[in-house]
Amino acid sequence: MICGGIDIGGTKIEARLFSDDLATVEMRRIATPKDSLSDFIDALAEQVRWLEQLSGEAQSLPIGMAIPGLIDAQTGRAFTSNLPASGHDIGLLLSNGIARRLPLMNDCQAFALSEANGGAGEGCRSVVGLIMGTGVGAGLTIDGRLTERFNGSALEVGHIGIPAHVLVPRDLPIWPCGCGKHGCFEQYVSGNGLAALGSHRLGRPLKAEEIVASAMSGQADHMALLSEWAHIAAELLLIIQLGHDPDCIVLGGGLSGIPNVVPMLEKPFQSLLLGEMRMPFIRTAIHGDSSGARGAAIMATRQLS
Ligand SMILES: [Zn+2]
Repeated sequence: MICGGIDIGGTKIEARLFSDDLATVEMRRIATPKDSLSDFIDALAEQVRWLEQLSGEAQSLPIGMAIPGLIDAQTGRAFTSNLPASGHDIGLLLSNGIARRLPLMNDCQAFALSEANGGAGEGCRSVVGLIMGTGVGAGLTIDGRLTERFNGSALEVGHIGIPAHVLVPRDLPIWPCGCGKHGCFEQYVSGNGLAALGSHRLGRPLKAEEIVASAMSGQADHMALLSEWAHIAAELLLIIQLGHDPDCIVLGGGLSGIPNVVPMLEKPFQSLLLGEMRMPFIRTAIHGDSSGARGAAIMATRQLS
C-alpha cells in the first residue's frame, strides 16, 4: 500500500511519499513556521495536500505524522518545546483544513518502528531505537509493534539522571538540563554533551564534529574525549538494558555516524554487563533521515488494516 509520512521538526516539516515496499518515492521539505499556530497548521495542511495529489489517491492515502515530544493519549494534545503548537491537539486543528484526522506519534517511537520493520532491527523481537543527536531519546517496539504508553512519551532516557559512580571518579560537574533537572544523561552523551565534555576537559569551546574529526585523525586528547564519551554512553546502554532487556539497540541521530561507533560502544558496555546478561545487538540505523516519516507512515497503514 502506498502511504505518506510527515516528520515535523523545529526547523523543517518533511513530507515523504512511500511505495508499497516503503521506499521513498518523493520528498519535500518546507520551513517550520515558528511563531504562529495557524501558519504552522497551514504548512502541515499544504504538505498533506501535496502528498495526496502526488499519490493520486487523494484522501484515501494513509498519512502519519511524527513530532519531537509527548502526545497525550487521553487528550490528543502534543507537548514539545520547539513547535508553535505545544499544548494543542494538532490532529484536530489540522482536520479543519484537510477534512480528515491523521494520526500523530512521537518521533523516537517512529524511528524505532521504522528500524524494527525492514530496518536494522528486523528479525529482533524487542528493539530499542536510540537517537543520539542534538538531544537523546529512544523508542521501543515489541514484535515490530509499538507498545501503548501511559503519557504518550517515548523512552525519555536522555532525562535519566547520570549515576554518581560515573560522574564522581571522573570529577565531572552535575550540569543543568533544558528539562529543568540537573545531571541528565543528555547533557553528557548528546552532540551538545560531547561538545560540553570537550570544552570542559580542554578549556576552550569545541564542537562535537570537531572532536570526532580530530579523534579520527589521531589527535590524542580528542581520542581520549571520544573514549570518555563512549564510556558514559555505554552506561546509558546498560540502563536501557536493565530497564528493558531488548535484543537489539539501533543507533540513530548525528552521533551514530561516528566511524566505528558500534565497537566503540560495545567495548565499555561489555565491561559493565550485570552478571551473566548477554549484550544486545548494537547496530546503526538503515533508514537514517527518513525514519521519522517512514515510522509514521507504517503507523498510518496499520491503523487501516
Ligand atoms: Zn533533562
